[in-house]
Amino acid sequence: MNIQELDREYVAGTYSRFPVVITAGKGSLVTDIDGNDYIDLTSGIAVNSFGACDEVWYKAICSQAAKIQHMSNLFYTEPCAKLAHMLCERTGMKKVFFSNSGAEANECAVKTARKYAADKKGGDYYTVITLKNSFHGRTITMLSATGQDHYHELFRPLTPGFVHAEPDNIDYMKTLADAHKTAAIMIECVQGEGGVVALSQEYVKAVAEFAKENDIILIVDEVQTGNGRSGQLYSYMNYGIEPDIVSTAKGLAGGLPLGATLMGEKVKDTLKAGDHGSTFGGNPVACAGGVSILERIDKALLSGVREKSKFLFETFKGAQGIEQVSGMGLMMGLKTTKPAKEVVNACIAEGVLCLTAKDRVRLLPALNIPDDLLKKAAEVIKKCCA
Ligand SMILES: *Cc1c(COP(=O)(O)O)cnc(C)c1O
Repeated sequence: MNIQELDREYVAGTYSRFPVVITAGKGSLVTDIDGNDYIDLTSGIAVNSFGACDEVWYKAICSQAAKIQHMSNLFYTEPCAKLAHMLCERTGMKKVFFSNSGAEANECAVKTARKYAADKKGGDYYTVITLKNSFHGRTITMLSATGQDHYHELFRPLTPGFVHAEPDNIDYMKTLADAHKTAAIMIECVQGEGGVVALSQEYVKAVAEFAKENDIILIVDEVQTGNGRSGQLYSYMNYGIEPDIVSTAKGLAGGLPLGATLMGEKVKDTLKAGDHGSTFGGNPVACAGGVSILERIDKALLSGVREKSKFLFETFKGAQGIEQVSGMGLMMGLKTTKPAKEVVNACIAEGVLCLTAKDRVRLLPALNIPDDLLKKAAEVIKKCCA
């Protein structure tokens, strides 16, 4: 059996994969089993922040693996402490809990918010308000948090205590918060899986203000938008707000599984010994990868992200077959006249990998994609949309 047959036979059929077997990559180019090269505008869904097998990252993780690959969280290790310090220095947040995925980073955020609310207001203050069209992960609780019914249907009963507000409608949010004893509000500033839709400045500011006035914990889910993707280190920084909790994962460790829940002043001491934990969370190899990524997401890199983003917006705006361009930084959605899936398949046939999000074509290139490759890929996409 070849690899595609083997996979179809033995791997759970939860993914509808493209018919391409990727065997290697370098930067923003990846190679398939037949030796064909592709320009990669997916980064493993916003994971490979500096592209495939980035040299600095690769050396950092190999050097850590050669020292020690894992210890239990009952012992101290350097990469974990160092990365937590860097995350706090860069955000003003106070403490970090490490896990292995976005869903887990959000679970920790919700546990923290619920404990804070229970301590402060009472155990009946457990409701978490999230937004319609949001995506927060695949565990049963994060499915409940996710504001899209089609993720729920087959898996009831869901975890109670989640209600969904209409995005960009502050009155709706206030009405829900009045109707429920609310522990937290959780938002994505740019709804990624929801079609790459950015919330408005006014709305995000109003939500932050409302949460603060009512001592409701504001959680910003930066799993996809985080770690430089939005053109700032975290997308909330584009809105001038200060969340109480920030969750992130995907791009944080440049290609290794790592989730992080950043806790601000209010909740920095909410979780105590024994309240939460993870066997793999804070793994030294993953954290060493995280350090090597985070220390290079500097002013120059972020301004590069914004320039590349501007180039893409300008290239696609008004192009034939492209009805709308949405998103922020290097997280972009294209509403196309042709079905998005058809455009993506045509792009793959032309040597460019991109994704879909709902009915849109979604682009998530590496933050350091060279301009010539980006330009070449954009021309292919334009051609395939027309
Ligand atoms: C991908 C994603 C998640 C889930 O992350 P996993 O690592 O797959 O658990 C949660 N929230 C957002 C916004 C995401 O994009």
